[in-house]
Amino acid sequence: MLKRFQLSILLLLYLLTTSSSLLQADAHIFVYHRFGDTRHPSTNTSIAELRKEFNYFKKNGYKVVKLETLINALKEDREIPDNWIVLTIDDNFKSFYTKGLPIFKEFGYPFTIFLYLKATQEGYKDYTSFDQLRKIAKYGSFEYHSYAHAHMVNMSEKEIREDFDKGLAIFEKEFGIKPKYFVYPYGEYNEQLERITKEYGFEAVLNQNMGAVSKGTDIFDIDRCALVGKPKLKTYLNFDELHNVEIVEPTSYPKNGILTRVKAKVENSAKKAFVYIRGHGWRPVKVKDGIIDYKTSKKIKGKRMKIGIQVGTKLKVKVFMGE
Ligand SMILES: [Zn+2]
Repeated sequence: MLKRFQLSILLLLYLLTTSSSLLQADAHIFVYHRFGDTRHPSTNTSIAELRKEFNYFKKNGYKVVKLETLINALKEDREIPDNWIVLTIDDNFKSFYTKGLPIFKEFGYPFTIFLYLKATQEGYKDYTSFDQLRKIAKYGSFEYHSYAHAHMVNMSEKEIREDFDKGLAIFEKEFGIKPKYFVYPYGEYNEQLERITKEYGFEAVLNQNMGAVSKGTDIFDIDRCALVGKPKLKTYLNFDELHNVEIVEPTSYPKNGILTRVKAKVENSAKKAFVYIRGHGWRPVKVKDGIIDYKTSKKIKGKRMKIGIQVGTKLKVKVFMGE
């Protein structure tokens, strides 16, 4: 009798956990850069690794969908299936054309390339030509990454607009269409850039903050995980979108470059969390009544301050840019 009771408790627990994971459905967007190019290990994906990832998707019931499919589902406020994966490629490196594309074709996986137009227009050695891009267009789609791939957070409004005007004119001239989606060069953004991006009429904007996508995700701030270097594919696939995490502090890049406090609101039930500060790694922190209040004194290296909060498999990352 007791055994039977224990069994039904176990079954109940199982049902509870599975049904809650169905409720919390999260798709994942990945970003690649170079393929089979060992000269640049931090932005490269080896062909063996790419095959391993694609075989993993195939064997574990993941469905690789077009970026447009996911964005449209977000726009219509539909539930996002847990097994959806979107594959994006930043910068139009030649190694995608020569080494990556054959693998995408073999698996029949759609992809979106975010174009850095100056590199192609000026015939930079490592980048695809417009003719090669037109051949690639049969299998995937193109969207916008910028004209000059500059650090746009350091540019004036006038300079940003000049870059957009120039790049978008080339895009339309070469491909006969307007791009709908944008990704920030280097994944860097601030309020000014976010505003200008919206004014240019992009329908969705993607970052490189790591994380997941689910119903309710801000369509102008969509997280992507980079599968480059030594990627943690399974960790990334377990990320859930944390809509209920609010990073209260910091609100901006600290003026003296020293971060003194990370404060966030998380779920009430959480007891343990991890705080990430770029350049200083992750550290465990206590959660009390749904509040993380981590006092510290960390020198921020560089102009990009990235703060992360992780609770269980859920992760929220925010980036603040310095002057
Ligand atoms: Zn880029």
